[in-house]
Amino acid sequence: MKYNTLSDYLKNKYGCKVYKLSLQSGCTCPNRDGTKGYGGCKFCSEGGSGDFAARLSDIDTQIKEAKEKIDSKFPKGTKEENKKYIAYFQSFTNTYGDEERLQKLYKSILSYPEIVAISIGTRPDCISDNMLCFLKELNKHIDVWIELGFQSANDNTIRNMNIGYDRSVFEDTYKRLKDAGITVIVHVILGLPGECKEDMLYTIKYLAGLNPHIDGIKLQLLHVLKNTKLYEEYMESLEKNEDYLHVLTLDEYCKIVTKCLMLLPSDTVVHRITGDGPKSLLVEPKWSADKKNVLNKMRSYISDVQKFRVHHIMCTNLYRGMGYDGDFAKNMTKIVRELRNNPDKKLYLVNDPDCICERCPNLKDGKFCTNGDNNVRTKDTLLADALDLEIGEIYTYRELMAIAKVKLTRDVFENSCKNCNWYKQGACRYEDFKFDN
Ligand code: SF4
Ligand code: SF4
Repeated sequence: MKYNTLSDYLKNKYGCKVYKLSLQSGCTCPNRDGTKGYGGCKFCSEGGSGDFAARLSDIDTQIKEAKEKIDSKFPKGTKEENKKYIAYFQSFTNTYGDEERLQKLYKSILSYPEIVAISIGTRPDCISDNMLCFLKELNKHIDVWIELGFQSANDNTIRNMNIGYDRSVFEDTYKRLKDAGITVIVHVILGLPGECKEDMLYTIKYLAGLNPHIDGIKLQLLHVLKNTKLYEEYMESLEKNEDYLHVLTLDEYCKIVTKCLMLLPSDTVVHRITGDGPKSLLVEPKWSADKKNVLNKMRSYISDVQKFRVHHIMCTNLYRGMGYDGDFAKNMTKIVRELRNNPDKKLYLVNDPDCICERCPNLKDGKFCTNGDNNVRTKDTLLADALDLEIGEIYTYRELMAIAKVKLTRDVFENSCKNCNWYKQGACRYEDFKFDN
């Protein structure tokens, strides 16, 4: 599958590669100093989630040093005027504290024409009306992005992790920011204690349902870092043999991220599919220390997954080269050949248009099947029930065929196919189904 990556978005918007300068505003966190709570969010290290940001010094020095670090990433020979940056204030809560000082600091970024956007990480309970007014004005001169911590839509998790604000606070701030025309990027952590796959997907479904759509999302793997409350509780649970936290494997993480991406609106920019905790502090998951390898595996996994509608389990099996038109048949022949040659291909099961529908003359507006007034959706759902398949799950084609071998009875087949013209014409028959594909 393809998704809307940050690098593509930046290239389209600014016409070139744009790099982030990690800077510090000198803010602390209200969840550490007692204003909202003590101890911080349980997963947060003493660096306040910005363990790689520049040391605190005056902003000009920080920008100069951050540029020196990043400049080797530009292709050799890139002219100075073609180097563009984002001023990125990540650590702690960058709208909390002396607002006059902060506004002066953020305004000073305007004197750097090569900085095209300013990205400010903060908590949803820390944007005052005064700050919002300032950000709205600043947004007229430079692109302002607010990165809002959210982490989970499950209030129990938010409470357990000592995050200190709930979904209603997030929702209210989100609306205020969007009303002010500001770009909002939401942070989500996958793998939090007590959260199963459904809980994580619930968070993403909730975000995907927001109107207007979220501009961007950062998906972050939960890291257990030393010197955090999460680490203490995790170690304690190991001693007591308690089931406190399921440490995701790389395979599980690839799968869950792919499902998240499938659920997000296509116009939401994906800023991150994982993060990297400082190696010196990282306790779990150990595999996440090798970021390059993780990203390679994730990208390869995600690009391999394709949407596949349930009833196409049968159509691909019984396909014999006929189709609605030449273009459809050409595409279907290619897909069927690929699936037969590579039955380990990963398929994301849907009751919506898939890679086969994409080239079908019956598909309207990319989502509606005019063949039978979109009843095909019901057909997919009923067949998924009959075969005990989960829509929104990832299976290999081999697995789907193995399930069909056990569960696809003549009755199930007839029920599913009886209204289809290909069945009526005798082109598809139960006895032709190749169960040993
Ligand atoms: S009868 Fe229709 S739905 Fe059934 S397998 Fe054939 S083409 Fe697919
Ligand atoms: S007829 Fe409908 S369900 Fe079948 S391939 Fe075309 S669009 Fe998809």
